[in-house]
Amino acid sequence: MNNLSEIKTFSKPLIANLQKLGISTIQGLLLHLPLRYIDETRITAIRDCRQGFEAQCEGEIVHAEVTYKPRKALIARLEDASGQLTLRFLHFYPSQIAALKVGTKLRVYGEVRHGFFGYEMVHPTCKTAGEKTMVAETLTPVYPTTAGLTQATIRKAIAIALNLNKISHPPSRGRARVGVESGEGEESSQIDSTHPHPNLLPSSGKVQLAETLPAGVYKLLNLPSFSTSIHALHNPTPDANLNALENHATPEWRRLEFDELLAQQLSMRKHYIKRRSINAPSIAVSTTLVPQMLQNLAFTLTNSQKKVIAEISTDLTQPHPMQRLLQGDVGSGKTIVACMAALQAIEHGWQVALMAPTEILAEQHYKKFSQWLVPLNLNIAWLTGSQSKKERELALTNIASGHAQLAVGTHALFQDAVTFKSLGLAIIDEQHRFGVQQRLALRKKGEPEPHQLMMSATPIPRTLSMSYFADLDVSVIDELPPGRTPIVTKLVSDERRDEILQRVREACMAGSQAYWVCPLIEESEALQLQTANDTFAHMQETFPELKVGLVHGRMKPAEKQAVMAQFSAGAIQLLVATTVIEVGVDVPNASLMVIEHAERAGLSQLHQLRGRVGRGAAKSTCILLYQSDKKLGEIARARLKVIFENTDGFIIAQADLHLRGPGEFLGTRQSGVPMLKIADLERDADLLESAKNVADKLIKEYPQAVEKHLERWMSHAGELVKV
Ligand code: ADP
Ligand code: MG
Repeated sequence: MNNLSEIKTFSKPLIANLQKLGISTIQGLLLHLPLRYIDETRITAIRDCRQGFEAQCEGEIVHAEVTYKPRKALIARLEDASGQLTLRFLHFYPSQIAALKVGTKLRVYGEVRHGFFGYEMVHPTCKTAGEKTMVAETLTPVYPTTAGLTQATIRKAIAIALNLNKISHPPSRGRARVGVESGEGEESSQIDSTHPHPNLLPSSGKVQLAETLPAGVYKLLNLPSFSTSIHALHNPTPDANLNALENHATPEWRRLEFDELLAQQLSMRKHYIKRRSINAPSIAVSTTLVPQMLQNLAFTLTNSQKKVIAEISTDLTQPHPMQRLLQGDVGSGKTIVACMAALQAIEHGWQVALMAPTEILAEQHYKKFSQWLVPLNLNIAWLTGSQSKKERELALTNIASGHAQLAVGTHALFQDAVTFKSLGLAIIDEQHRFGVQQRLALRKKGEPEPHQLMMSATPIPRTLSMSYFADLDVSVIDELPPGRTPIVTKLVSDERRDEILQRVREACMAGSQAYWVCPLIEESEALQLQTANDTFAHMQETFPELKVGLVHGRMKPAEKQAVMAQFSAGAIQLLVATTVIEVGVDVPNASLMVIEHAERAGLSQLHQLRGRVGRGAAKSTCILLYQSDKKLGEIARARLKVIFENTDGFIIAQADLHLRGPGEFLGTRQSGVPMLKIADLERDADLLESAKNVADKLIKEYPQAVEKHLERWMSHAGELVKV
């Protein structure tokens, strides 16, 4: 029994309302946990109230009136032995006027503030008080709710569900609570951690709170049982620490956070294990092409590059598909790593696809790979949306026949018309720019399934790669090629724009090149375009002596490419650009970047943009222009501080996670990854570590527990990451 409709006392509207909250089962209802708690277990003397704190007071109404100035309000004064408290209602019904008659005994609950006449409560909840009005025995939970569903109703519904799951053994710990008994005794007798396959679920009606984990597991972590935790969170005792409860710092909260993190670990491990059962070409280590390439290379690889090349190479030799994420800060040299992987596949007769999110970047890769591979007598096909029909058909034929060993392109690569003779490796650059379906579509073009290498310059903080990304293998390039001078970042108020323009002029006259990045205008692409056009016109006027170019997302691909080619070749000195240049663009001679309205951009975006300079040996500068009005929000201020003080992408990503939560990083995570609703990766980092270890142990030793645990928590996770 787990369906809400099986609780006979639940009405249809109630069930419909619960469904609006995403609750469709009794289990789900029990996991609908309080947002906060209010303490109605004690009555506070009015004199002892504290400004800004909630309190419950009781007394007699000694005065009540409806006033009309400054605005209509119902005002009453409640008196107890210690003093008086003003009750103020700005919206009220005639019935409330009647209920607040002088002489009425009333119990009120609300936040206490200093008002004109001393302490007051605005819109307190009121109950008539009499001899029989008891104080609550437990802290009163406040739940997330929806229109049409009152706190009282949802509390009652949860109380009923809890009652169904009441554990009949006598309480073994602490004071008795209404409808709540500690279940330690029962669980420890049911679950024996020394037994390899404990029978975890009792057959009675207590299924929803049955323990999924061997007792040894949670006891070792000093966590209470699942049922104890659920009961205690819905009905905490009056002596519970309200602060700890609201900060999710009690053992009971931690137990549920742990459970949720564990479910995520388990499901990711299962994905991972499943992948290992799929076939992929096993590609031996390269003995000719890679050594030749190394000889031709104008630079020596960094140790970090060597390390990740070896990791990828080992993966390719495996008979199951690689799914490896290559992380390396902007400019760390991921492209050559991709090239080495490609050469290993090509040497053994497999084709390689390299997909990039923008035409600019795809073109740049095409050129770079041509430089590298043509001397090795290899053929490259080039595929984008903007080619002529003839070029496209030629490329398609070469890919289908296997004549082209490497196909470089944009989204055009995974279209239906593209067939490979033998795709062995799919490389996806700037993977976060692609959706899961797109990456999958490319993978489908090989038989058996090709290996997949995903590259990203957006570093994923450790807690994230341990959680949401735990099903992927990750390689990290953690050093930059030598000889780069660090980028100097400057924060400059927009009022000093003229100085900056002067600086741009000087830099360009001295033979270097500059980017001028127009602000991101999320609300309107048209407006963004206009800003770019205006800026371009303005720059042409300001700098008649310079060749100024413009690139933005709405230009035809061929136009964009022409502009980028001119900038690359040094024919354009100042490039006005929208954020289209954010990813991948590599023009080493550009050593100055100005970003307008930097306060609007996200941290990773700023970091990516800044990474377009500092690619050559010259000292580079990135100037962040910000609007100096005082309205600069706290987050914007915090972001600018982070980007100003740090150049290490990992630190910046960690700060980004802290400021914005994991949402941004998860944009393109595959569906099927359970979202965390209770646990918080920063707060619960220690539990994440434990969950990881426990997951491995459970999969090996308690497969039955794994299934039960996933069953409970995966249905709770419900909403999966959007693709
Ligand atoms: P990203 O990791 O941002 O994709 P790229 O692969 O575009 O970086 O490399 C940035 C620049 O550094 C390129 O011009 C590339 O040729 C150069 N590069 C890569 N590896 C090295 C190295 N080991 N030594 C010197 N330069 C390198
Ligand atoms: Mg790159």
